[in-house]
Amino acid sequence: MQRDLELLLDLQEIDDELGELERSKIYLPEMIQKLESEISTLEKEIEGNKSTLQDSLKEQKALELDIETDKQQLENFQRQMKIIKTNKEYDALTAEIDSKKLEIAEKEERVLSLMSTIDECQEKEKELSSSLDGVRSGNKEQLKLLNEQSSSLQAKIDDRMEKRSRLIKNIKRQVFGIYERVRKGKGGLVVVPVRKRACGGCFKQIPPQRIQEIRRGDRIFSCDSCGRILIWSDENGTE
Ligand SMILES: [Zn+2]
Repeated sequence: MQRDLELLLDLQEIDDELGELERSKIYLPEMIQKLESEISTLEKEIEGNKSTLQDSLKEQKALELDIETDKQQLENFQRQMKIIKTNKEYDALTAEIDSKKLEIAEKEERVLSLMSTIDECQEKEKELSSSLDGVRSGNKEQLKLLNEQSSSLQAKIDDRMEKRSRLIKNIKRQVFGIYERVRKGKGGLVVVPVRKRACGGCFKQIPPQRIQEIRRGDRIFSCDSCGRILIWSDENGTE
């Protein structure tokens, strides 16, 4: 095979690797972000649950003190009941007692609802912290690996870029020009093998005469249709 073709295949390999590395530059931070946000979402949920629990406990305590005071007032009213003298006083005190009882009942109902919220929060706290443990340990290894890959990425890109520029110096300017033009125009592979008497890139049939020339590999041939550089592949046998 012609030296230029060999160099082009090497160049193509480096460019494929560079493409892969450039994709990783986008993909790796996304993956890391996703794994980290799985953890932080759970942490936030735990925080939210904890503050609901604390608020509920605080409100419950305050209500229970209130109810104590209300009950003492109720007892006072009931004592006064025994010493009232007029119907008017009786009616007023009855109204006070009824309203105090209602107040106590409403507060007790709220306490019951708070107690069930507190139970739910405590249950949820156990579930969430065990989920967090699971996610943390599950993501830890993966995050370590991804962070390592991410931090060595630029060095790998620099390494390939350096190899690339060294390689390019050895390729004929005109041949490299063809390669760069096709690569920018078509993306992906530039040097493609002949397959079943056709271009391996666009599948256009190649005239027999041209196939013989490509096989000899005396010079660089481009596909008439897509412009990709054609090489002979041993897969074609010796036909
Ligand atoms: Zn083609």
